[in-house]
Amino acid sequence: MILKSPWPQDIVDRLNTWQSLGFCHPYACSECRSDLTATTNGWKCSEVGCAYTQDWAHEPPTTDQFVKLKNELHLWMNAGEVPGM
Ligand SMILES: [Zn+2]
Repeated sequence: MILKSPWPQDIVDRLNTWQSLGFCHPYACSECRSDLTATTNGWKCSEVGCAYTQDWAHEPPTTDQFVKLKNELHLWMNAGEVPGM
């Protein structure tokens, strides 16, 4: 499901959690490839001087789903199945 901004704070927080996970592909700027930062008015590029914005995102996981994702990642890492980590 695609969510168009403006977004409620709950969605902003979950999108920024997604950006900070490090093991999921983050939303990135179309112009400079820097990571995007979610705000209630949509995505903003994190690069100083870059004016790129984006007004949509896929619905981010809930807090419970994030916990599950992190637990699964630990299992994969312990099993040595995550290449490059
Ligand atoms: Zn940018």
